[in-house]
Amino acid sequence: MDEQTGYEEFIRQIVAAGVTDPLVLAAIRQVPRHLFVPEILCAKAYSDSPLPIGLGQTISQPLMVALMTQLLRLKETDRVLEIGTGSGYQAAILSLLAKEVITIERLYDLAETARVRLSQLGYPNIQVMVGDGSLGWSVSAPYDAIIVTAGAPEVPKNLLQQMAPGGKLVAPIGARTHQTLVLVEKTMTGETIWHSHGACAFVPLIGEQGWQV
Ligand code: SAH
Repeated sequence: MDEQTGYEEFIRQIVAAGVTDPLVLAAIRQVPRHLFVPEILCAKAYSDSPLPIGLGQTISQPLMVALMTQLLRLKETDRVLEIGTGSGYQAAILSLLAKEVITIERLYDLAETARVRLSQLGYPNIQVMVGDGSLGWSVSAPYDAIIVTAGAPEVPKNLLQQMAPGGKLVAPIGARTHQTLVLVEKTMTGETIWHSHGACAFVPLIGEQGWQV
């Protein structure tokens, strides 16, 4: 399969799995996933699977990136918080659909690699921070959208507090090895409405409001 055919097949699988938002599909088409994985894995970048990025972490499965992004229904005025920068791929997708993305990574080396990559590829509206994202990032709160890209035993309460009225949060919640994708919407009066969106498997969220190391 040549690269172009492989890429079209990749988009077709994402559409077939229920991602129909044209803005999300356009963002997926625009971000070169092969530049977010180790060079040796470049040829596998347009298959629908997570791939190792070092330090025991992974770049998420593209379908999951697309589904989570679609659930957030981003507007171009939105401010977004991402927990778990990893390669920076999900942050790049979000940055094309929102005004500003703040992304937090607990592992300094991954954060640094992602920061350099995002700046070289030209994503000026992303800030990469190092820290325990299970506590959120209170100085820039509240956020219109929060996305957690590591699995947690429950939705960290700090993150619920840092949602703006009318905001959305998406996170994998459950056991250490497998979770349910949960969408939380905060009403204008501050109540939260919870929805489940199927099974998923993410690396663990390690931190004060996540798992112990
Ligand atoms: N969104 C990433 C994939 C993330 S994998 C991408 O597009 O490539 C999950 C990441 O979450 C890992 O890099 C892991 O180190 C990080 N992580 C785990 N616990 C964390 C925490 N408490 N705060 C910030 N990052 C965390």
